[in-house]
Amino acid sequence: MATDCCECCCFFLRRSQKDPKPTTSHLYKHYSGEHLLAFSVAEEDRLTHSSARHGAKSTFNNYCLPSDNNASIRIGYNRSMSPSRAPFKEWRGSPRIPQLDNTGENLAQHMLVKENNLAVLSQDSNGNKMINEYVRECKIGTGSYGKVVLHRSKKDGKQYAIKMFHKSRLRKLRVSPTETAMMDVLREVAIMKQLDHPNVVHLVEVIDDPENDRFYMVLEYAEGGWIFEGSGPTGGIGEAVSQRYLRDVVAGLMYLHQHNVIHGDIKPENLLIGGDGRIKICDFGVSCLCEDDNDEIGRSPGTPVFTAPECCLGLTYHGKAADIWALGCTLYCMVLGCYPFKGETLQSTYEKIVYDPLYLPEDLNPDLADLLKGLLCKDPTQRFSLEVVANHPWVVMGYGPVDEE
Ligand code: ADP
Ligand code: MG
Repeated sequence: MATDCCECCCFFLRRSQKDPKPTTSHLYKHYSGEHLLAFSVAEEDRLTHSSARHGAKSTFNNYCLPSDNNASIRIGYNRSMSPSRAPFKEWRGSPRIPQLDNTGENLAQHMLVKENNLAVLSQDSNGNKMINEYVRECKIGTGSYGKVVLHRSKKDGKQYAIKMFHKSRLRKLRVSPTETAMMDVLREVAIMKQLDHPNVVHLVEVIDDPENDRFYMVLEYAEGGWIFEGSGPTGGIGEAVSQRYLRDVVAGLMYLHQHNVIHGDIKPENLLIGGDGRIKICDFGVSCLCEDDNDEIGRSPGTPVFTAPECCLGLTYHGKAADIWALGCTLYCMVLGCYPFKGETLQSTYEKIVYDPLYLPEDLNPDLADLLKGLLCKDPTQRFSLEVVANHPWVVMGYGPVDEE
């Protein structure tokens, strides 16, 4: 098998020894130097795109690999949910893709994600490239580790977004002293395999052929693109549309948090619009599973301008509260068309996040202003919870409280 053991183990992360107390000096120690050295892209890109996959991950990563395959993380199971609505299982032992049958296909019953260890590359009669039954149509996105290409299935005629990676490249790419980029991808797959919610992009199939260097994630296609598609963030997308989108993101995020999944990179680019006009959260590339209800994590946060103040200050932080801050930044972008805290450099962005008061226009709808203040509260213990957000007057207005579904 192409999958080697040390990569598999990464699904079962456990916390390393206790972290030192956070101080403001961490701001520069853990962000500035390494970020600035590691990044070769434009400053704008550094501030607005995911840092974790561009060399900064090691700075905050305090996870370590368990010494054996038996170590496990308990994936949350919410007893109030019926088993049919709660696809989460407690995983123990190896997370390796199971042995497949003769056809090379296996439908994992609980996860409803097809796992395929056979990749057949061919061309259709029009000369279009094919991977198994999927015919290539066009490129729709560039991920940090690979590209995302639109395909159409010859089996069901539907379109799928296929995220493709080169395993050999990812194995060589270190994101921390103990982890490679391949581990990130395998973690992303392990998390996505267990998600089933209308506001979360569904992973349909994983194609991982030991004889082929390419690794494919076949995803449900969100045909509307990202939430600023066609409009761009300048000026925002208006209160009414923002409210509708926010309600969907809150529903998806409530589902994730109830199952102890920290998204880690909530931002407009990772919020896609499905065929039904509903928002789907995508990109679990820096997500993590936390043990039971303890959401204290230490990995590097996703994207600088969406980073919560406590993540800039210390070695560990609460992942759920950090996701809620990022949700606040996202709402701010949606309604006001700019980032709430953004400096000229990476350091000044982090300083603004930590020290600057939140600027809100005086004529802003008072309910919306209250919501933004609650989401972008610098003290994570005082920040709004998702339950408060789901019942907030601005969110509820005209629809009622957000239902997790
Ligand atoms: P990365 O982890 O590198 O940011 P993403 O998963 O966010 O990768 O994918 C990169 C881009 O590809 C997204 O911002 C989006 O534009 C596009 N994309 C990803 N998944 C889908 C999908 N399921 N449907 C439509 N577009 C997608
Ligand atoms: Mg992304």
